[in-house]
Amino acid sequence: MTKSNRPDYRKVFINDSLAIKFDIDESYSIIACEMKNNELHIRLKIKDEIFECGNCGKGEAKINEAKEMTWRHVNLNSRKTFVHMRVPIVKCRSCGKSECWTPGWASKNGLFTLEFERQIKRMGNSCSVTQIAEALGENETQIWRTLNKVI
Ligand SMILES: [Zn+2]
Repeated sequence: MTKSNRPDYRKVFINDSLAIKFDIDESYSIIACEMKNNELHIRLKIKDEIFECGNCGKGEAKINEAKEMTWRHVNLNSRKTFVHMRVPIVKCRSCGKSECWTPGWASKNGLFTLEFERQIKRMGNSCSVTQIAEALGENETQIWRTLNKVI
């Protein structure tokens, strides 16, 4: 296996006795990791301050403001896991369009990370929507939306 085929996991310590492996690239900092009600909450921060415009592709977009977002992620250490981040709302210097930027690991306009969506898709090959919803602790409507989406 070549190096590029291997996920670049980072070891994150929740406390002295619990560490998880979380796959995220170097554009992000993990600024907090905590357990709440037996759920794992990971808070990220994006390091970049300038973004490429998703509308015209020509201009640089600068952060105008930010929006607090939360995504459900695959279970880590058998715990329901959530990723939190303040997502920049960027404004293009060239075309002037403002948009909420989507991290590369998150579903567009979704509530799940792409990895969690792939897990739902895999489960969809052998389980009913009700079984998936029960196993993951999510509502059936969100499972249906994910299964009907092309990832
Ligand atoms: Zn633009």
